Amino acid sequence: MRGVTEMRNAIIPDVKSAALIDQQAKADVTLCWTCGTCDAECPINTATNRLRPRKIVRMATMGLIEELANLPEVWYCIACNRCGQTCPTLVTPSRMIARVRQEAVLRGIMSRTMHTAYIKFFSAFQRVRWQVVSWCFNEPLTHLSDSQWYEWLNTPIESEKSVISGDGILKRQSALGDILSGAETLSCFTCSECTSACPLKGERGVFDPLWITRMANLGLTDELLRSPSIWLCVQCQQCTESCSQAVKVHSLIEGLRALAIKQGIFDPGFQTRLKKADRIVYPRFVEEVDRILGSSGGNVLYY
Ligand code: SF4
Ligand code: SF4
Ligand code: SF4
Ligand code: SF4
Repeated sequence: MRGVTEMRNAIIPDVKSAALIDQQAKADVTLCWTCGTCDAECPINTATNRLRPRKIVRMATMGLIEELANLPEVWYCIACNRCGQTCPTLVTPSRMIARVRQEAVLRGIMSRTMHTAYIKFFSAFQRVRWQVVSWCFNEPLTHLSDSQWYEWLNTPIESEKSVISGDGILKRQSALGDILSGAETLSCFTCSECTSACPLKGERGVFDPLWITRMANLGLTDELLRSPSIWLCVQCQQCTESCSQAVKVHSLIEGLRALAIKQGIFDPGFQTRLKKADRIVYPRFVEEVDRILGSSGGNVLYY
């Protein structure tokens, strides 16, 4: 039986703060029944055991805002929304994490300099992911040395520049079969809202949903199916939700991946190699985030 002293250490929920932060985040955290599905599905957690969306949701329901804003975990999140997509009660932990990050910046817990360093790093990290996909096309990634990690982080991806002729667009599009019509890509008027909403935005040559949509509409099938970019998408669906033309950009990317596999562009082991590579790459990602959070941010602006 717990003693009186122990009872005094109990966390007293701050109901007002809990209601306010949930209202701001629109994450429906009060619906959480602590099943732990989000912990099991989170790709960062499965690779590192360092990010538990359930814990963040529970802390939010208790109104522990200051404690949440001080959690390094919120900066490990890659905004894939896998937690929200798999939650049986429709809680969206990723939205709560995004709100907590804003709070950390507003309260000065994450300084502006550190935040700039983090944004730069997150963008450069997509170069690493691009290189990893490219590597896994042919062989498994078994190790990532410091020198390889920093070389990939610091080396921009060169995008191929070629003149696209208008000839035969319809013929080339037809190679994409039902994917274009299913995703309704022809309605795209290149407003770039999808790019703005995408958590991976940063360098167009690495990944850009608008670029992928334009390439699909121009019938650049082969270039798309062989591009590492289509494997970087984390399927958060932010692009589709933000598109005023109802283009299903995430479905387009999903369709392109399926077609690449169907056409045998990669051997059947490719996707397994890619999944295994996450267990090497995400721990490095988390380590680097810790380094940024532990520094003043001033010594990490080299990406
Ligand atoms: S999956 Fe949903 S209900 Fe389950 S712990 Fe996570 S937030 Fe709560
Ligand atoms: S958005 Fe993705 S990385 Fe972030 S907590 Fe949810 S599942 Fe994990
Ligand atoms: S948001 Fe929609 S219309 Fe705008 S560029 Fe993206 S796909 Fe095209
Ligand atoms: S392209 Fe769309 S689904 Fe993919 S990561 Fe960007 S916003 Fe998310």
